[in-house]
Amino acid sequence: MSEAKKMFIDGAWTTGTGTATRDLVDPATGFVNATVVEGNAADVDAAVAAARRAFDAGPWRDTPALARARILLKLADALEAHAEELGALETSNNGKPLRETAYDVSDAVNCFRYYAGLATKPTGQTYDVPDAMQAMTVREPIGVCGQIVPWNYPLLMAVWKLAPALAAGNTVVFKPAEATPLSVIRLFELLEPLGLPAGVANLVLGAGETVGSRLSEHPDVDKIAFTGGTDTGKAVMRAAAGNMKKISLELGGKSPCVVFEDADLETAVDWALFAIFANQGQVCSAGSRLLVQSSIHDRFVARLVERAQKIVVGPGNRDGVEMGPLITEEHMRRVLGYIEIGKQEGATLACGGLKLTSPELAGGWFVAPTVFTGCTPDMRIVREEIFGPVLVVLPFSDEAEAIQLANDSIFGLAGGVFTNDGARALRFIRKLRAGITWINAYHPTYNEAPWGGYKQSGIGRELGTYGFEAYTEVKQININLAPGPVGWFAN
Ligand code: NAD
Repeated sequence: MSEAKKMFIDGAWTTGTGTATRDLVDPATGFVNATVVEGNAADVDAAVAAARRAFDAGPWRDTPALARARILLKLADALEAHAEELGALETSNNGKPLRETAYDVSDAVNCFRYYAGLATKPTGQTYDVPDAMQAMTVREPIGVCGQIVPWNYPLLMAVWKLAPALAAGNTVVFKPAEATPLSVIRLFELLEPLGLPAGVANLVLGAGETVGSRLSEHPDVDKIAFTGGTDTGKAVMRAAAGNMKKISLELGGKSPCVVFEDADLETAVDWALFAIFANQGQVCSAGSRLLVQSSIHDRFVARLVERAQKIVVGPGNRDGVEMGPLITEEHMRRVLGYIEIGKQEGATLACGGLKLTSPELAGGWFVAPTVFTGCTPDMRIVREEIFGPVLVVLPFSDEAEAIQLANDSIFGLAGGVFTNDGARALRFIRKLRAGITWINAYHPTYNEAPWGGYKQSGIGRELGTYGFEAYTEVKQININLAPGPVGWFAN
């Protein structure tokens, strides 16, 4: 086994203060295929101190925006030049099929290019005020940003955070999920020669309970940007209260995919499968609750189940594979646990519902695409985020019931509607309490448009201009156009 991969702190690769390491397991085989250094709270302190120095001394925030943009563009080029390698690395670490990691890498490249473009376009304003004053605003970087991401899109989630933060002139301490640090370690290797001042971008590795919580509570961190589960998000929010950090939270979901009787059935089935089974169902915005109008319910479900059973499940690096393994054995057991709960709750298992045990797949964490019908709104499998290839189907009679069911959730991340009635589609979407929505589609989103949730799916927005503003403070400046005493006090 090769040497454990290191952290990047204050411009140098380091094993940190401890001696612990973490073995990473290939989800398709169950075998260890890499080892990384396991960081601790003292390593977070060192990284934050470096980021603090780098921010306060100003080498990055005072670098002209165009020069900052040039570095981000060079990083985009480097990622693009290593796209195949990065895709294979991500597949070996996360398990997802190569066609998905290829998409993730290309989207990551576009994201750096998008924010490099935005770096030179700050959006201050001037105001005409009722006085001999010129009031204006400028945008400034927030300072030291702690960034924590999950394992489902390891590279992409990292880039959604690193690109706007660096473009806006902040310094960062980044923590990947403990299971999936490899692609972002490679990103930092590609970033290292590009001339970023020491301490501007730091990478710490390790567990959420130690490294993540220290970063969230650290008094010298000005902003925490977190993507992960809703319960963890609440813990991060509590920890961030200590020094009143700015926060961005991108959390869980249980999003509805809603099909009316007038939709084209084959098209809607196709999207409904994509909505839940893309990325093994490990997608925050997955269409994990399928609501189908009663008049077409049985026909729709029959076709959906027929196609779900044909999805090609296998190791992500094999040609033709459409769905890979789940991320870890622990997560697979959690998903299988929910399938047992669904059966006990009285839902009907229409397909799947088990770990795949063919000789090729037995060693990995493969779960068959699973569909439950006969579900009711009170069931745990309908209310809780399973974060795996498990779809629950509920019938509805009319538009009013569809919207009531769609909004019956503590989450509000995403949702899609399928209908050929344009007015109804827009009526429905306007009533849906969710941040990311589709009409006659599900999943495609873009770096240019804001991403984030209503209700307990999060606070704030990433991506687009919103995602850039989330890494800036707004400063009001008032310039006296008639300099002289104020004359408030007589003597
Ligand atoms: P998780 O909350 O367990 O972990 C996410 C990250 O937080 C990891 O890096 C982990 O190490 C860290 N962490 C854990 N405990 C922490 C603590 N006490 N303090 C600080 N950091 C801590 O989530 P997960 O299982 O890795 O990911 C799945 C979840 O992420 C799902 O709920 C999914 O919906 C959500 N997610 C949301 C979005 C979005 O954009 N809204 C995107 C992807 C995933």
